[in-house]
Amino acid sequence: EEETFEEVARTLSKAKRITVFSGAGVSVSSGIPDFRSPGGIWTRFDPMVYCDYENFLDKPEMFWTMVKCLYQDIHFSLGGSREELERGELRSPRPNEAHSAVADLEALGKRVSVVTQNIDGLHSAAASKDVIELHGTDSSCTCMTCKEVVSREEVLKQIVEGGGFRRGSVTIVPRHGGGCGGVLKADVVLFGEALPTGAMMKATKAVMASTVVLVVGSSLNVAPANMLPTMVKYRPFGKLVVLNLDTSGKEQADLFLQGEATVVLPKLVQRMKELMTWN
Ligand code: NAD
Repeated sequence: EEETFEEVARTLSKAKRITVFSGAGVSVSSGIPDFRSPGGIWTRFDPMVYCDYENFLDKPEMFWTMVKCLYQDIHFSLGGSREELERGELRSPRPNEAHSAVADLEALGKRVSVVTQNIDGLHSAAASKDVIELHGTDSSCTCMTCKEVVSREEVLKQIVEGGGFRRGSVTIVPRHGGGCGGVLKADVVLFGEALPTGAMMKATKAVMASTVVLVVGSSLNVAPANMLPTMVKYRPFGKLVVLNLDTSGKEQADLFLQGEATVVLPKLVQRMKELMTWN
């Protein structure tokens, strides 16, 4: 393991261009639960059901109930109180040491693209410059009828004012109030929905231009996103590095590290710094 760590640090130090491919695992320490780790919200709300596009068209209240519970869980896991929640003063996740370490790769003079499956905006918040959001963003919603874009804050306000965070309340489906009144959908990609225009193309370009793809915190279970990392192998000298808490991606990886992203990534960046000043 120690040897693999050293080889990963050396490989990254030598690379001019790196693509970081991230999944839900990088944001777990920020209070956002991932899909596959045991316990938590996704045992109550199967994402294959609650995050399915056809189901959203039929029953948008299912999706919005899940969102409400997710925000609630995140708020509590960040130490917020019930009173704050009901007043709509929700705690929101902040970037952690893993997001910061990814941003630090740029400070080392590397050209870095971050291809992320996450919708939480935390890579940009940590100051990574080139972030490709494959699965959209939770920072806005779009009206299903007139396609006008509404901010997340406005939607949250509707949920709060409708009493949505009070104990035992029914979920209200946010609507395009002051507009056409249509149902609002978060700008995140649901199962069965197309990825944002150009996202796969941009991500493919980034991967093919990189000598190293570093996968962090992804089970590589969700298609078509999971097809991207291995493409680096079609490139001469291209290397696929995977860092996960479990053993997902171990078979595909040229170099595999098992560990906590918030611990291993800062250590890697530190080691790269040393290697790059000595050579
Ligand atoms: P996943 O839940 O399928 O897999 C998470 C992976 O991260 C696992 O392999 C796990 O071992 C690893 N992991 C968990 N905690 C870690 C840590 N602290 N350090 C290192 N590794 C850790 O996640 P996925 O592959 O991203 O697929 C889930 C899908 O759900 C994605 O499409 C994503 O869009 C969406 N999602 C996004 C968020 C978010 O935006 N933060 C959260 C949940 C789900």
